[in-house]
Amino acid sequence: MNQSPLNIDTMPTDLFIGGAFRPSSSAKRIDVYDPASEKVIASVADATTEDALAAVEAASAAAEAWAATAPRKRSTILMRCFELMTRDAEKLAQLITMENGKALADARGEVAYAAEFFRWYAEEAVRINGEISVAPSGAARTIVQYQPIGIALLITPWNFPAAMATRKIGPALAAGCTCILKPATETPLTAYAIADLLAEAGVPAGVVNVLTTSTAGRVSNAILDDHRVRKLSFTGSTEVGRVLLRKAADSVINCSMELGGNAPFVVFDDADIDAAVEGAMIAKMRNGGEACTAANRFYVQRGVADEFSRRLAERMGALVTDDGLKDGTQCGPLVNKAAVEKVGALVDDARKKGARVLTGGNAPQRKGFFYMPTVLADVAPNSDLLGEEIFGPVAPIVAFDTEAEAIRFANATEYGLVAYVYTRDLARGLRVSERIESGMIALNRGLVSDPAAPFGGVKQSGLGREGAHHGLLEFMEAKYISTNWS
Ligand code: NAP
Repeated sequence: MNQSPLNIDTMPTDLFIGGAFRPSSSAKRIDVYDPASEKVIASVADATTEDALAAVEAASAAAEAWAATAPRKRSTILMRCFELMTRDAEKLAQLITMENGKALADARGEVAYAAEFFRWYAEEAVRINGEISVAPSGAARTIVQYQPIGIALLITPWNFPAAMATRKIGPALAAGCTCILKPATETPLTAYAIADLLAEAGVPAGVVNVLTTSTAGRVSNAILDDHRVRKLSFTGSTEVGRVLLRKAADSVINCSMELGGNAPFVVFDDADIDAAVEGAMIAKMRNGGEACTAANRFYVQRGVADEFSRRLAERMGALVTDDGLKDGTQCGPLVNKAAVEKVGALVDDARKKGARVLTGGNAPQRKGFFYMPTVLADVAPNSDLLGEEIFGPVAPIVAFDTEAEAIRFANATEYGLVAYVYTRDLARGLRVSERIESGMIALNRGLVSDPAAPFGGVKQSGLGREGAHHGLLEFMEAKYISTNWS
């Protein structure tokens, strides 16, 4: 591992276009804040539509050669990306904590997870198989070949600044696509650090371009209006996802959408309560609750509701909440002031509707965007926080009586990303898993994310899958050749 300390002043902060860092054509900059101190720690270039079109030009110039690069060579470069990211893991983790706020332990976990997408897709790059069959009529042979879909626009959120980028760049490069990454404005530094590593790993100029901008809508529209761009892969809120799907319709651009979640966490009477509390801590508190997979609603069967609530409140109340860079911090600040205000308003609403605060329930009086880990019991069904993403360290608990009721509660949402189910009865676990409307189920586990598994949602949580072989196919088109040689 590279032991040189992180020096934020020497990190790249300019647009990465055609293999080189360069300032924006407007020379404007965007400030980047440390959510723990509220101080400006750096500024990055603010791309214009002109810069965006330069990035499309660079991606286009590199496209043919990259698509024609031997899969083994693409694989070797991706494996080198994995190695370099692993080498620089500690520096990247510190950078993530500085701009996002999450506890360093969470940031280290993110870097390991993010790097794994490069390794997984290095392995996938040489496993792009086609198909051949005889047509049912016997009159022809059907050959199916997978080809790169073309230039891809990748738009990512601030909550996993490294992993959301590599989960898209890895498969795009394995498939033979060139791309333009637009990271979130709150967390641009990690994206530029990754761009720097990709260049060191030998990714050719123009294959990956990175743009930060204060005008996301304008810049992404300019890119999507260029007909050379054939793919949009977006991770972020359902609200912005809908806007982008409408825009993509103009040029019939292929879309993958990883959108918001509202994960139910269901605990049955027969569950192993130790395991359920442990799983709840992971499902709720990974990233301080700022995860699309975060358990958002806890449905606990009446017989164990009091015990589960008490024990979860003890664990949540004992979490060390502080600057993410400090040793021992388990819960860092939220990303910005608006996030603290949103979480506070949701908790106040639940309280007014009758919820009991078992721990937390307030923002501490200190500098930084902190909110105390909170557990709420007896949450009324019409509370706002059961219907929308909390995106903070708050666990609302609702008791239920029957299996049918648990399923009905779990499905009472427009979202369908992930659900958590705890029971010792495997048949019940699988039955409930089948009936809950979500793309992923964690059965007696608090974590689903795995680069080797298909990640994604149903309903308004998204379209398509990332990770696994499925993630590669999102960047490929099936070409069917009909022929006959008999
Ligand atoms: P967001 O507000 O939707 O922003 C996501 C990205 O879209 C950012 O880069 C943002 O740029 C950009 N953006 C905003 N408006 C745009 C527009 N009109 N046109 C093009 N791009 C636009 O989401 P967020 O607050 O960063 O992230 C949190 C959300 O992401 C949550 O809903 C969470 O559930 C979801 N998420 C989903 C997954 C998943 O895999 N399903 C994973 C992680 C997060 P700016 O930063 O410049 O506004």
